[in-house]
Amino acid sequence: MEDFRLAVNSAIRLGVHSNVTSRFALTKLAYKDFRMEHPGMFAQHLVSAFEVAGSILKNHRRRLRKGLPTQVPFVRRLFMKTENQAYKLGRENGVVDLPIRAGLHIRLELVVSGYHRRYLDDKSLSLGSLTLLPDRVVVAIRKHPPKAYAPESIVSLDTNECSLDGVLAKEDRIAAVVRAEFPDVSIIQSVHHDRRKRLQKKKSHDRRTARRLCAREGMREHHRIDYRMHEVANTVLSFAEEHKSMIVLEDLTGIRPRSEKVLNRRISMWPRRKLHQIIEYKAAWRGIPVIKVDPRYSSRKCPVCGRIQDSRKGAEFVCGCGWRADRHINASINLLQTAASEKAAGGLRFDPGAFQHDVVMVLCNPGRVVRPEPNGTSNMRAAV
Ligand SMILES: [Zn+2]
Repeated sequence: MEDFRLAVNSAIRLGVHSNVTSRFALTKLAYKDFRMEHPGMFAQHLVSAFEVAGSILKNHRRRLRKGLPTQVPFVRRLFMKTENQAYKLGRENGVVDLPIRAGLHIRLELVVSGYHRRYLDDKSLSLGSLTLLPDRVVVAIRKHPPKAYAPESIVSLDTNECSLDGVLAKEDRIAAVVRAEFPDVSIIQSVHHDRRKRLQKKKSHDRRTARRLCAREGMREHHRIDYRMHEVANTVLSFAEEHKSMIVLEDLTGIRPRSEKVLNRRISMWPRRKLHQIIEYKAAWRGIPVIKVDPRYSSRKCPVCGRIQDSRKGAEFVCGCGWRADRHINASINLLQTAASEKAAGGLRFDPGAFQHDVVMVLCNPGRVVRPEPNGTSNMRAAV
Protein backbone atom coordinates (compact mmCIF):
# COMPACT_ATOMS: atom_id res chain seq x y z
CA MET A 1 0.00 0.00 0.00
CA GLU A 2 2.87 2.31 0.84
CA ASP A 3 4.47 1.66 -2.57
CA PHE A 4 1.16 2.11 -4.32
CA ARG A 5 0.60 5.45 -2.66
CA LEU A 6 4.11 6.51 -3.57
CA ALA A 7 3.50 5.57 -7.19
CA VAL A 8 0.19 7.45 -7.29
CA ASN A 9 1.69 10.57 -5.78
CA SER A 10 4.67 10.73 -8.08
CA ALA A 11 2.41 10.10 -11.07
CA ILE A 12 0.27 13.02 -9.93
CA ARG A 13 3.31 15.26 -9.70
CA LEU A 14 4.47 14.17 -13.12
CA GLY A 15 1.00 14.69 -14.54
CA VAL A 16 0.69 18.20 -13.14
CA HIS A 17 4.16 19.04 -14.34
CA SER A 18 3.60 17.90 -17.90
CA ASN A 19 -0.13 18.63 -18.11
CA VAL A 20 -1.24 15.07 -18.73
CA THR A 21 -4.24 13.26 -17.28
CA SER A 22 -4.94 10.16 -19.29
CA ARG A 23 -3.78 6.86 -17.91
CA PHE A 24 -2.28 6.00 -21.24
CA ALA A 25 -0.18 9.15 -21.42
CA LEU A 26 0.90 8.81 -17.79
CA THR A 27 1.95 5.24 -18.38
CA LYS A 28 3.99 6.24 -21.37
CA LEU A 29 5.58 9.07 -19.47
CA ALA A 30 6.36 7.42 -16.17
CA TYR A 31 6.45 3.67 -16.58
CA LYS A 32 10.13 3.26 -17.33
CA ASP A 33 11.42 5.39 -14.46
CA PHE A 34 9.07 3.69 -12.04
CA ARG A 35 10.17 0.29 -13.12
CA MET A 36 13.74 1.34 -12.32
CA GLU A 37 12.83 2.80 -8.94
CA HIS A 38 10.50 0.00 -7.89
CA PRO A 39 11.86 -3.05 -9.62
CA GLY A 40 9.82 -5.40 -7.47
CA MET A 41 6.34 -3.95 -7.92
CA PHE A 42 3.90 -6.06 -9.86
CA ALA A 43 3.49 -4.36 -13.24
CA GLN A 44 -0.33 -4.51 -13.23
CA HIS A 45 -0.46 -2.64 -9.93
CA LEU A 46 1.73 0.08 -11.35
CA VAL A 47 -0.64 0.56 -14.27
CA SER A 48 -3.59 0.75 -11.90
CA ALA A 49 -1.72 3.33 -9.79
CA PHE A 50 -1.46 5.46 -12.93
CA GLU A 51 -5.16 5.04 -13.51
CA VAL A 52 -5.96 6.22 -9.99
CA ALA A 53 -3.60 9.17 -10.47
CA GLY A 54 -5.31 9.98 -13.76
CA SER A 55 -8.76 10.21 -12.21
CA ILE A 56 -7.46 12.34 -9.34
CA LEU A 57 -5.82 14.67 -11.87
CA LYS A 58 -9.05 14.93 -13.82
CA ASN A 59 -10.90 16.11 -10.73
CA HIS A 60 -8.12 18.54 -9.98
CA ARG A 61 -8.32 19.95 -13.48
CA ARG A 62 -12.12 20.25 -13.30
CA ARG A 63 -11.80 22.30 -10.13
CA LEU A 64 -9.21 24.52 -11.75
CA ARG A 65 -11.46 25.07 -14.74
CA LYS A 66 -14.37 26.05 -12.54
CA GLY A 67 -12.14 28.43 -10.58
CA LEU A 68 -12.60 26.49 -7.33
CA PRO A 69 -9.84 26.56 -4.75
CA THR A 70 -7.52 23.60 -5.14
CA GLN A 71 -4.01 22.44 -4.37
CA VAL A 72 -1.85 19.96 -6.17
CA PRO A 73 -3.48 16.73 -5.00
CA PHE A 74 -1.63 14.44 -2.64
CA VAL A 75 -2.85 11.05 -1.49
CA ARG A 76 -2.41 10.54 2.24
CA ARG A 77 -4.69 7.57 2.70
CA LEU A 78 -3.05 4.18 2.55
CA PHE A 79 -4.67 2.00 -0.04
CA MET A 80 -4.18 0.09 -3.21
CA LYS A 81 -6.48 -0.69 -6.07
CA THR A 82 -6.18 -3.39 -8.64
CA GLU A 83 -8.18 -4.60 -11.61
CA ASN A 84 -9.67 -8.06 -11.84
CA GLN A 85 -6.85 -9.50 -13.95
CA ALA A 86 -4.38 -8.91 -11.15
CA TYR A 87 -5.98 -10.81 -8.26
CA LYS A 88 -7.86 -14.03 -7.63
CA LEU A 89 -10.82 -14.43 -5.34
CA GLY A 90 -12.07 -17.88 -4.41
CA ARG A 91 -15.80 -17.39 -4.56
CA GLU A 92 -16.42 -20.45 -2.39
CA ASN A 93 -14.06 -19.71 0.47
CA GLY A 94 -13.56 -15.95 0.19
CA VAL A 95 -9.78 -16.14 -0.05
CA VAL A 96 -8.02 -13.41 -2.02
CA ASP A 97 -4.73 -14.19 -3.71
CA LEU A 98 -2.93 -10.94 -4.36
CA PRO A 99 0.45 -10.90 -6.10
CA ILE A 100 2.81 -8.26 -4.74
CA ARG A 101 6.00 -8.94 -6.63
CA ALA A 102 7.57 -11.81 -8.50
CA GLY A 103 7.25 -14.91 -6.35
CA LEU A 104 5.47 -13.12 -3.49
CA HIS A 105 1.72 -13.43 -3.11
CA ILE A 106 -0.33 -12.50 -0.11
CA ARG A 107 -3.36 -14.41 1.03
CA LEU A 108 -6.29 -12.51 2.53
CA GLU A 109 -9.07 -14.45 4.17
CA LEU A 110 -12.23 -12.39 3.94
CA VAL A 111 -15.06 -12.70 6.40
CA VAL A 112 -17.97 -13.84 4.23
CA SER A 113 -21.44 -13.14 5.60
CA GLY A 114 -24.77 -14.24 4.19
CA TYR A 115 -25.04 -10.88 2.48
CA HIS A 116 -21.74 -11.38 0.67
CA ARG A 117 -22.67 -14.98 -0.14
CA ARG A 118 -25.67 -13.75 -2.11
CA TYR A 119 -23.39 -11.93 -4.52
CA LEU A 120 -20.52 -14.41 -4.56
CA ASP A 121 -22.84 -17.33 -5.36
CA ASP A 122 -24.62 -15.50 -8.17
CA LYS A 123 -22.73 -16.67 -11.25
CA SER A 124 -24.24 -13.98 -13.45
CA LEU A 125 -22.15 -11.43 -11.55
CA SER A 126 -18.49 -10.95 -12.37
CA LEU A 127 -15.77 -9.46 -10.25
CA GLY A 128 -14.47 -5.96 -10.86
CA SER A 129 -11.71 -4.02 -9.17
CA LEU A 130 -10.38 -4.76 -5.72
CA THR A 131 -9.50 -1.98 -3.29
CA LEU A 132 -7.33 -2.83 -0.34
CA LEU A 133 -7.55 -0.57 2.72
CA PRO A 134 -5.81 -1.01 6.06
CA ASP A 135 -8.98 -2.36 7.68
CA ARG A 136 -10.97 -3.84 4.84
CA VAL A 137 -11.16 -5.03 1.27
CA VAL A 138 -13.69 -3.67 -1.22
CA VAL A 139 -14.53 -5.89 -4.17
CA ALA A 140 -16.62 -4.36 -6.94
CA ILE A 141 -19.27 -6.56 -8.53
CA ARG A 142 -20.27 -6.20 -12.16
CA LYS A 143 -23.54 -7.04 -13.77
CA HIS A 144 -24.91 -6.69 -17.25
CA PRO A 145 -28.13 -4.80 -16.58
CA PRO A 146 -31.18 -6.84 -17.52
CA LYS A 147 -33.35 -5.49 -20.30
CA ALA A 148 -36.03 -3.29 -18.79
CA TYR A 149 -39.57 -4.66 -19.05
CA ALA A 150 -42.20 -3.03 -21.25
CA PRO A 151 -44.20 -0.86 -18.85
CA GLU A 152 -47.91 -1.39 -18.37
CA SER A 153 -48.34 1.61 -16.10
CA ILE A 154 -46.55 4.73 -14.92
CA VAL A 155 -45.63 5.84 -11.43
CA SER A 156 -44.76 9.51 -11.47
CA LEU A 157 -43.18 11.00 -8.37
CA ASP A 158 -42.66 14.56 -7.27
CA THR A 159 -39.66 14.85 -4.95
CA ASN A 160 -40.22 16.95 -1.87
CA GLU A 161 -38.30 17.73 1.26
CA CYS A 162 -39.93 14.99 3.31
CA SER A 163 -41.61 12.67 0.82
CA LEU A 164 -42.02 11.38 -2.68
CA ASP A 165 -45.58 12.08 -3.74
CA GLY A 166 -47.20 10.88 -6.85
CA VAL A 167 -49.71 8.87 -8.75
CA LEU A 168 -49.96 5.52 -10.41
CA ALA A 169 -51.51 5.77 -13.89
CA LYS A 170 -52.91 2.64 -15.48
CA GLU A 171 -55.01 2.13 -18.58
CA ASP A 172 -55.66 5.79 -19.34
CA ARG A 173 -56.54 6.74 -15.83
CA ILE A 174 -54.96 7.56 -12.53
CA ALA A 175 -55.48 4.56 -10.32
CA ALA A 176 -53.91 5.50 -7.04
CA VAL A 177 -52.03 8.04 -5.02
CA VAL A 178 -48.57 6.92 -3.99
CA ARG A 179 -46.56 8.35 -1.17
CA ALA A 180 -43.21 7.38 0.32
CA GLU A 181 -42.32 9.45 3.34
CA PHE A 182 -38.99 10.29 4.89
CA PRO A 183 -40.00 12.90 7.46
CA ASP A 184 -36.93 12.46 9.62
CA VAL A 185 -34.32 13.20 6.98
CA SER A 186 -34.55 16.96 7.34
CA ILE A 187 -34.67 16.55 11.13
CA ILE A 188 -31.47 14.49 11.04
CA GLN A 189 -29.87 17.15 8.88
CA SER A 190 -30.68 19.97 11.24
CA VAL A 191 -29.70 17.99 14.34
CA HIS A 192 -26.28 17.25 12.93
CA HIS A 193 -25.94 20.77 11.64
CA ASP A 194 -26.53 22.12 15.14
CA ARG A 195 -24.12 19.62 16.63
CA ARG A 196 -21.40 20.63 14.22
CA LYS A 197 -21.94 24.28 15.03
CA ARG A 198 -21.70 23.55 18.74
CA LEU A 199 -18.55 21.51 18.26
CA GLN A 200 -16.93 24.28 16.31
CA LYS A 201 -17.65 26.77 19.06
CA LYS A 202 -16.50 24.45 21.81
CA LYS A 203 -13.28 23.51 20.05
CA SER A 204 -12.54 26.91 18.57
CA HIS A 205 -9.12 26.85 20.25
CA ASP A 206 -8.21 23.61 18.48
CA ARG A 207 -9.12 23.61 14.85
CA ARG A 208 -7.63 20.23 14.15
CA THR A 209 -9.80 18.51 16.73
CA ALA A 210 -12.81 20.51 15.62
CA ARG A 211 -12.31 19.37 12.07
CA ARG A 212 -11.91 15.75 13.09
CA LEU A 213 -15.03 15.76 15.26
CA CYS A 214 -17.07 17.56 12.62
CA ALA A 215 -16.00 15.04 10.01
CA ARG A 216 -17.19 12.27 12.32
CA GLU A 217 -20.53 14.00 12.76
CA GLY A 218 -20.76 14.33 9.01
CA MET A 219 -20.18 10.60 8.53
CA ARG A 220 -22.87 9.75 11.06
CA GLU A 221 -25.34 12.04 9.38
CA HIS A 222 -24.44 10.56 6.03
CA HIS A 223 -24.99 6.99 7.21
CA ARG A 224 -28.31 7.75 8.85
CA ILE A 225 -29.68 9.52 5.80
CA ASP A 226 -28.29 6.97 3.39
CA TYR A 227 -30.03 4.19 5.26
CA ARG A 228 -33.40 5.91 4.94
CA MET A 229 -32.90 6.76 1.28
CA HIS A 230 -32.22 3.10 0.49
CA GLU A 231 -35.38 2.07 2.32
CA VAL A 232 -37.48 4.60 0.41
CA ALA A 233 -35.94 3.55 -2.90
CA ASN A 234 -36.60 -0.14 -2.22
CA THR A 235 -40.23 0.54 -1.32
CA VAL A 236 -40.81 2.56 -4.46
CA LEU A 237 -39.08 0.03 -6.70
CA SER A 238 -40.94 -2.96 -5.30
CA PHE A 239 -44.20 -1.11 -5.86
CA ALA A 240 -43.21 -0.26 -9.44
CA GLU A 241 -42.14 -3.84 -10.12
CA GLU A 242 -45.41 -5.19 -8.79
CA HIS A 243 -47.41 -2.98 -11.15
CA LYS A 244 -44.96 -3.32 -14.06
CA SER A 245 -44.56 0.44 -13.97
CA MET A 246 -42.20 2.89 -15.50
CA ILE A 247 -40.96 5.42 -12.95
CA VAL A 248 -41.05 9.12 -13.80
CA LEU A 249 -38.90 11.49 -11.77
CA GLU A 250 -38.14 15.15 -12.11
CA ASP A 251 -34.73 16.10 -13.43
CA LEU A 252 -33.18 17.86 -10.44
CA THR A 253 -29.99 19.07 -12.09
CA GLY A 254 -29.56 22.77 -11.66
CA ILE A 255 -32.31 23.18 -9.10
CA ARG A 256 -31.48 25.32 -6.10
CA PRO A 257 -33.30 25.64 -2.80
CA ARG A 258 -36.33 27.82 -3.25
CA SER A 259 -35.80 30.48 -0.64
CA GLU A 260 -33.21 32.15 1.51
CA LYS A 261 -34.85 30.60 4.55
CA VAL A 262 -34.36 27.11 3.17
CA LEU A 263 -30.73 27.95 2.46
CA ASN A 264 -30.23 29.23 5.98
CA ARG A 265 -31.58 26.06 7.44
CA ARG A 266 -29.09 24.24 5.27
CA ILE A 267 -31.70 21.88 3.98
CA SER A 268 -29.75 21.00 0.91
CA MET A 269 -30.80 19.37 -2.31
CA TRP A 270 -28.37 16.50 -1.90
CA PRO A 271 -30.56 13.96 -0.10
CA ARG A 272 -33.07 14.25 -2.91
CA ARG A 273 -30.46 13.97 -5.64
CA LYS A 274 -28.91 11.07 -3.77
CA LEU A 275 -32.33 9.42 -3.57
CA HIS A 276 -32.73 9.74 -7.32
CA GLN A 277 -29.29 8.23 -7.86
CA ILE A 278 -30.15 5.29 -5.63
CA ILE A 279 -33.50 4.77 -7.36
CA GLU A 280 -31.85 4.91 -10.78
CA TYR A 281 -29.07 2.42 -10.15
CA LYS A 282 -31.31 0.01 -8.27
CA ALA A 283 -33.87 0.25 -11.05
CA ALA A 284 -31.20 -0.52 -13.65
CA TRP A 285 -30.13 -3.52 -11.56
CA ARG A 286 -33.70 -4.83 -11.42
CA GLY A 287 -34.72 -3.93 -14.97
CA ILE A 288 -37.24 -1.26 -14.07
CA PRO A 289 -37.48 1.58 -16.59
CA VAL A 290 -36.94 5.10 -15.24
CA ILE A 291 -37.20 8.38 -17.09
CA LYS A 292 -36.50 11.89 -15.91
CA VAL A 293 -38.42 14.86 -17.17
CA ASP A 294 -38.04 18.62 -17.06
CA PRO A 295 -39.94 19.82 -13.96
CA ARG A 296 -40.54 23.32 -15.30
CA TYR A 297 -43.92 24.72 -14.19
CA SER A 298 -44.82 21.34 -12.70
CA SER A 299 -45.85 22.96 -9.44
CA ARG A 300 -47.79 25.82 -11.04
CA LYS A 301 -49.55 24.32 -14.01
CA CYS A 302 -53.09 23.01 -14.19
CA PRO A 303 -52.97 19.59 -15.87
CA VAL A 304 -56.53 19.91 -17.19
CA CYS A 305 -56.65 23.33 -18.84
CA GLY A 306 -52.92 24.06 -18.96
CA ARG A 307 -53.11 27.46 -17.25
CA ILE A 308 -49.97 28.47 -15.34
CA GLN A 309 -50.43 30.12 -11.98
CA ASP A 310 -48.17 32.77 -10.51
CA SER A 311 -47.75 31.58 -6.97
CA ARG A 312 -47.40 28.18 -5.44
CA LYS A 313 -48.68 28.87 -1.97
CA GLY A 314 -50.99 26.59 -0.03
CA ALA A 315 -51.31 22.85 0.29
CA GLU A 316 -53.94 22.57 -2.40
CA PHE A 317 -53.77 23.50 -6.04
CA VAL A 318 -57.03 25.13 -7.17
CA CYS A 319 -57.68 26.22 -10.74
CA GLY A 320 -60.40 28.42 -12.22
CA CYS A 321 -61.51 25.53 -14.40
CA GLY A 322 -62.66 23.56 -11.39
CA TRP A 323 -59.62 21.32 -11.04
CA ARG A 324 -58.29 20.89 -7.55
CA ALA A 325 -55.72 18.54 -6.09
CA ASP A 326 -53.04 18.28 -3.44
CA ARG A 327 -50.17 20.49 -4.59
CA HIS A 328 -47.57 17.70 -4.59
CA ILE A 329 -49.93 15.31 -6.35
CA ASN A 330 -50.71 18.00 -8.89
CA ALA A 331 -47.00 18.41 -9.60
CA SER A 332 -46.62 14.66 -10.12
CA ILE A 333 -49.55 14.67 -12.55
CA ASN A 334 -47.78 17.36 -14.54
CA LEU A 335 -44.63 15.25 -14.59
CA LEU A 336 -46.72 12.33 -15.75
CA GLN A 337 -48.17 14.43 -18.53
CA THR A 338 -44.74 15.58 -19.65
CA ALA A 339 -43.56 11.98 -19.69
CA ALA A 340 -46.64 10.79 -21.57
CA SER A 341 -46.15 13.46 -24.21
CA GLU A 342 -42.63 12.18 -24.78
CA LYS A 343 -42.15 9.04 -26.79
CA ALA A 344 -40.11 7.55 -23.96
CA ALA A 345 -43.26 6.59 -22.08
CA GLY A 346 -44.01 3.93 -24.67
CA GLY A 347 -47.28 5.41 -25.86
CA LEU A 348 -48.98 5.18 -22.46
CA ARG A 349 -51.76 7.75 -22.30
CA PHE A 350 -54.00 8.99 -19.59
CA ASP A 351 -56.63 11.62 -19.00
CA PRO A 352 -56.25 13.85 -15.95
CA GLY A 353 -59.96 14.57 -16.08
CA ALA A 354 -60.58 10.95 -15.14
CA PHE A 355 -58.84 11.52 -11.81
CA GLN A 356 -61.42 11.88 -9.10
CA HIS A 357 -61.01 11.75 -5.42
CA ASP A 358 -63.20 8.70 -5.12
CA VAL A 359 -60.82 6.63 -7.25
CA VAL A 360 -57.98 7.31 -4.86
CA MET A 361 -57.22 4.25 -2.85
CA VAL A 362 -54.95 4.77 0.06
CA LEU A 363 -53.46 1.61 1.49
CA CYS A 364 -51.05 2.08 4.31
CA ASN A 365 -48.17 -0.28 4.64
CA PRO A 366 -47.53 -0.50 8.35
CA GLY A 367 -45.37 -3.59 7.88
CA ARG A 368 -42.42 -1.45 6.89
CA VAL A 369 -40.81 -0.11 10.00
CA VAL A 370 -37.38 1.43 9.99
CA ARG A 371 -34.81 0.09 12.44
CA PRO A 372 -35.58 1.95 15.65
CA GLU A 373 -33.10 4.53 16.81
CA PRO A 374 -32.54 5.66 20.38
CA ASN A 375 -33.44 9.26 19.68
CA GLY A 376 -36.80 9.10 18.05
CA THR A 377 -38.82 6.98 15.74
CA SER A 378 -39.26 6.96 12.05
CA ASN A 379 -42.51 6.58 10.26
CA MET A 380 -41.59 5.95 6.72
CA ARG A 381 -44.20 4.13 4.75
CA ALA A 382 -45.57 3.89 1.31
CA ALA A 383 -49.23 4.68 1.16
CA VAL A 384 -50.68 3.31 -1.98
ZN1 LIG B 1 -57.39 24.47 -14.95
